[in-house]
Amino acid sequence: MDDTSIGTRDKRGNWTPNKPLQIAPFWEGRWGKMAHFVIEYLWPWNTFHMVVSLAYWFLIIQPNLDAFKTFSPEMTLILYAINAGGIFVMYGSIELFYYVRRKQGTRFKYNSKFPSENPSDVFWFKSQNIDNFLRTFFLSIPIWTLVQVFFLWCFTNGIHAFGWMDWQNNWIWLVILTLLVPAIHEIHFFCGHWLIHQGVLYKWIHSIHHNSINPSPWSSMSMHPVESTFFFSEMLWHLIIPSNPIVALFQLNSTGYGAINGHIGFEKLELGGEAALDSHAYAHYLHHKYFEVNYGGEGLVPLDKWFGTWHDGSKESDELMKERFKKKKEKLRAKQAAKSGATPAE
Ligand SMILES: [Zn+2]
Ligand SMILES: [Zn+2]
Repeated sequence: MDDTSIGTRDKRGNWTPNKPLQIAPFWEGRWGKMAHFVIEYLWPWNTFHMVVSLAYWFLIIQPNLDAFKTFSPEMTLILYAINAGGIFVMYGSIELFYYVRRKQGTRFKYNSKFPSENPSDVFWFKSQNIDNFLRTFFLSIPIWTLVQVFFLWCFTNGIHAFGWMDWQNNWIWLVILTLLVPAIHEIHFFCGHWLIHQGVLYKWIHSIHHNSINPSPWSSMSMHPVESTFFFSEMLWHLIIPSNPIVALFQLNSTGYGAINGHIGFEKLELGGEAALDSHAYAHYLHHKYFEVNYGGEGLVPLDKWFGTWHDGSKESDELMKERFKKKKEKLRAKQAAKSGATPAE
């Protein structure tokens, strides 16, 4: 496919889409774009997360519900194996085809370099891939599994702020809630993500995720355990929102399996012929590039736009960002000057 028809490559080989990012059309009254938005909202990513969630529920969880009433090491291990296996297949196949075999080279790739080309001391074994892989499978996925087991313990013991809902009597609300899951994700993620960008929280916790300036799929869940706990605890909102375990599983799986979207590194994944999969990776790619922009997602709930941290990839956004950084630096300098002025010279 020709990637220059919708983007531009600079001298270093980095590719940028020509069209700036846009928040969800209903916020700006672009009603003509709604049909396209709804299709992209449902297909393929959210449909995939829902199918995976239904498989978890009907094939694994529902037949073993009693086992979750107490802490079962066996079921916990089985769930871990399924979560890890699912991620290994999904993330691993994108890594294998697009990063190891490089089947489409750097077409549609934002950063022309591949992480394996840049060994760095910040990573375990100096390798972004090994570091990211180990953190994913030995820290983040165990935490994901523990949140899931805790949730299922609450469910099987009837613990919920308002009581669990069934589909027969509450299907209208549960369908609405299912459609709101990505919005809940964006709000939860934005708030916690913004928080761990502040001061020592960034230094101690979130800097680990940001070591991957040029992310690949394995970077998606490469996090400090505190960040992973916050990240997966999103599912626990369903203990206080009137809900059902299938909707909660959809929330969890769109967090776990969906974490890859921001870290694919390519605008499109070519599937053969003219078929390609839109990655929806650009907003979060810009976050990895510039750090203090795009704390949320693509603007389904445009918190970044409202709080002035939105970067749509355009030159105008770049200028606004630089202006914001400049003001922040000036403020910091003034603060430091005031502080040293107040301290008597010795
Ligand atoms: Zn990230
Ligand atoms: Zn961040």
